[in-house]
Amino acid sequence: MPLLQPELAPNPEETLANYVRRVRMSLGLSQKELAERAGVHLQSVGKIERRQTTRLKQGPKSGLAYALSVPVEYLDAICKGVAVEAIASLKFCPQCWVPGTPPDPMWTHPRAKHCFACGSPLRDRCGSCKELIVSLKFRFCPFCGKSYKDT
Ligand SMILES: [Zn+2]
Ligand SMILES: [Zn+2]
Repeated sequence: MPLLQPELAPNPEETLANYVRRVRMSLGLSQKELAERAGVHLQSVGKIERRQTTRLKQGPKSGLAYALSVPVEYLDAICKGVAVEAIASLKFCPQCWVPGTPPDPMWTHPRAKHCFACGSPLRDRCGSCKELIVSLKFRFCPFCGKSYKDT
């Protein structure tokens, strides 16, 4: 399962072509390597990056998401032209999350409300000051300094 990395989220206004190229470069992959990882033709990757493809079929879309290590929701959002904040958010279980590790994709799923393991309500903001979580690379809230995880 791909890990949610906020820095790999599409920017507003970013096109599919720019996004795929940016994430591919950040992973240090050539078009050929990306195509192989994604299980699509090299030509298809070329077409996407030349803006000749703006919509993706389900198969190539999940292949690309896998190869780029981004949630398939990101690619969906770009193809639909909607902001990613609306569909994927950083949520975690205050009981099960291990600070310093990425959140489980089952928590960050757009429709997830409770932890799949212990049933606790998921948290997308600091339990103390209620500021939204920007990155779970932090163990502590950058706004109030309290630990994100319940102690
Ligand atoms: Zn839990
Ligand atoms: Zn806080």
